[in-house]
Amino acid sequence: MPGATKVTDRTIRNALAGLYPKEIWYFISSFIFLLSVVHLLASPASSKRGTTSLRRIPAAVVNAWRIIAFRSTLQIGKSYSICLADMFVIFVYILVLFVWALVNTTDLEGVKFDWTFYSNRAGTLAASQFPLITVLGTKNNVLTLLTGISYEKMNNLHRMSARVLLVLLWLHAGSKLVMPKGIDADQVGTFWLNIGYASVFAFSLLALVSIRPVRAVAYEFFFYMHFALAFVVLLGGVYHTANFNYSHYVWPSFLVWGLDRFIRLLRVIIYAVSPHLTRAKSTTDQTTEVSARADMLSPDLVRLRVPRPPGFSWSPGQLSYIIVPSISRLPFEAHPFSIASIHDAELETESHSAEKGKEHWSDIVFLISARKGFTRRLADKLSQKGESTMKVLLDGPYGSSPDLDSSDTVVLIAGGTGISYTLPLLLSLAKKGRCRRVHFIWSVRDSNHLRWVSPTIVKALSLAPTSMSISISIYVTASSIIDLPKHSNFANIDLNSMPAESTESLNTGHGTSLTLEKTATGVDLFDLRAVQVLFTRPKFDKLIHSEMEGADGHTSVCVCGSQGIARAVRSSVRVNPFAGPNSILKGAPSVTLHVESFGYA
Ligand SMILES: Cc1cc2nc3c(=O)[nH]c(=O)nc-3n(C[C@H](O)[C@H](O)[C@H](O)COP(=O)(O)OP(=O)(O)OC[C@H]3O[C@@H](n4cnc5c(N)ncnc54)[C@H](O)[C@@H]3O)c2cc1C
Repeated sequence: MPGATKVTDRTIRNALAGLYPKEIWYFISSFIFLLSVVHLLASPASSKRGTTSLRRIPAAVVNAWRIIAFRSTLQIGKSYSICLADMFVIFVYILVLFVWALVNTTDLEGVKFDWTFYSNRAGTLAASQFPLITVLGTKNNVLTLLTGISYEKMNNLHRMSARVLLVLLWLHAGSKLVMPKGIDADQVGTFWLNIGYASVFAFSLLALVSIRPVRAVAYEFFFYMHFALAFVVLLGGVYHTANFNYSHYVWPSFLVWGLDRFIRLLRVIIYAVSPHLTRAKSTTDQTTEVSARADMLSPDLVRLRVPRPPGFSWSPGQLSYIIVPSISRLPFEAHPFSIASIHDAELETESHSAEKGKEHWSDIVFLISARKGFTRRLADKLSQKGESTMKVLLDGPYGSSPDLDSSDTVVLIAGGTGISYTLPLLLSLAKKGRCRRVHFIWSVRDSNHLRWVSPTIVKALSLAPTSMSISISIYVTASSIIDLPKHSNFANIDLNSMPAESTESLNTGHGTSLTLEKTATGVDLFDLRAVQVLFTRPKFDKLIHSEMEGADGHTSVCVCGSQGIARAVRSSVRVNPFAGPNSILKGAPSVTLHVESFGYA
């Protein structure tokens, strides 16, 4: 028929290579929309105990989903675990990409899986996903805003999806290398072909330097290599795809990345400059501090107190990146730390300047455990000088704050510096006074840490309304295991069982005794019956189950510490919602678990 286009393998191939990336984007957009709606509507089920009720089926189903998806993890090696939800998302992503890459690849002669069909299509599909993996790797991104999924989780997906794309890219580039006449003679040596291969090789190298052991041993090396190689991948991708009119899929990645960097830089500048502006404007208060103060709480623990710059606001459980120019060796060396204080204007104005622990509700406090690099240099500087002031730049806040407002019972569990995450949550819960019961559990190696944490815990207890029941259980692990003699009476001592006077000072097992300073109100930690100090390891399953049994409504468990602690807590919370005396159908509380890890944990 005159004017009709002749259908050839080439026309079909090209049409499908153009259509399928769009279809995948419809699929991904629908999934994001679904997550956003769930995020908007999700609220923990409140309940009272009673007989089995069918009305509680939705709560039981949601709880079952949480247990299966988030609390069941697959352990990979010693230091890595992945939850089923992440595995599910990445499995579906792989399935979708490869099904779309390999369907309809039978040519007009009936040859199945004709490589000429899937090779270029795999390349186009991979290119179309570049903006997504870039968004997943940024800190200020629209997906976190829509779905409430924290940027750390997005980062996990960024790594996993990037590896899937690498396979897809090799399907594209590799098939051309191995197939006879894969590359036409007139294409050899062309710029777009060479830059395409350079991009794929850079991507492969990037995947290698991004593996966990490299990040753990040489984070800065990984960081700068990632920066340089990602630039080559994207630039190469733009030039290569421009030859086929597909560069519109790749160049937006530069925009996404640039916007994230711009927002971060702007924040750093604003928070660096704003204290000086406020100080210059203020005629009454000439003492506004602009420098941060750091001191050593123990040989391996630094406390950094940064005066809150005007406009810097955060929620308990969030973190900030810090840059300390006098300690950093590389430009842009920023490290993430949880903010161990709360931002509460009322408390800030109410408390007088000499009040102990005041920094935990007026400044931005970081508790920094000294490791090998930046943190060790910071600790070394302080061990020579004692307390020191320094310029600190802030890039934050980031991360999500757990929503505990509708919980009846909250269990806060921390190991070591994980208290940076749970201490502000405790203060905030006590101040709001909405939930009925809070149990704060801290496992720490050295009993000397009780000194600095004492005023803040005392403050939290004083803020809580009488309707709220708070228990503080501090487990000192190393003193009991390493230092205390085997026959010691202190190996598992419950201070509540002793008269208050005898608990004023505590034998640390070093032949010295630990005496806590009185707070402004004249109360110290050991005066309070809500506080237990135990020289043993915590039994998380017993502690959590007893709280769940006593709960009268939704229970939240928040944990931050080593991977061992996170694993123990996860398995304790993994109870069957459909069976047993605790069945949710019978009115037992539904449970939400929030796990915060410090990356290496
Ligand atoms: C979300 C989050 C919150 C954190 N909160 C705290 C906290 O409150 N208190 C605390 O003591 N530590 C916290 N950390 C850990 C802290 O960021 C690292 O210990 C610190 O960056 C190590 O710096 P370094 O140069 O001394 O590391 P190194 O001794 O060189 O390495 C130690 C570990 O830290 C990791 N690391 C190094 N640099 C970075 C970086 N820039 N970003 C991410 N990881 C890095 C390495 O991969 C390695 O696993 C947190 C980490 C994350 C991801």
